Amino acid sequence: MSMIRTYKCKECGTGYSTVTGIGARHSEIQNRMLADVRDGKYGEEWQKKSLEEDFSYVDASQGVYVCPNCKRWVNEYDVSLLYEDGRRESLVRTCECGAQMQRTDSIYLECPDCKTKNDYTDRRMTDDMKPYFKL
Ligand SMILES: [Zn+2]
Ligand SMILES: [Zn+2]
Repeated sequence: MSMIRTYKCKECGTGYSTVTGIGARHSEIQNRMLADVRDGKYGEEWQKKSLEEDFSYVDASQGVYVCPNCKRWVNEYDVSLLYEDGRRESLVRTCECGAQMQRTDSIYLECPDCKTKNDYTDRRMTDDMKPYFKL
């Protein structure tokens, strides 16, 4: 199951939400993502890795990624290669400002409109796998 967290900005009232974790269709999404990696949709370097090295699976959980520089955040699939020997390699996400985004477990997220940091107002479990940002 995935977790949907709903936010309502205490300053400007903007609603937004995140989906994190692993949903019911995880293995289906893993397979599709692995096919995408092998097709080169995540770049040449990753395509090469996926064809040359043994790895057990792709992590297709959903997470929130925050830019340490400008605090912009996105809610996306993890996309990590998990190798047979236990190594893990995650897709590097570059923010529009050029900094490298980092996965966060923090439940406090800035309002996309006015940048006020908010706590979630509601959360529920779901099988809905689609990440989305604004209500
Ligand atoms: Zn706001
Ligand atoms: Zn940034």
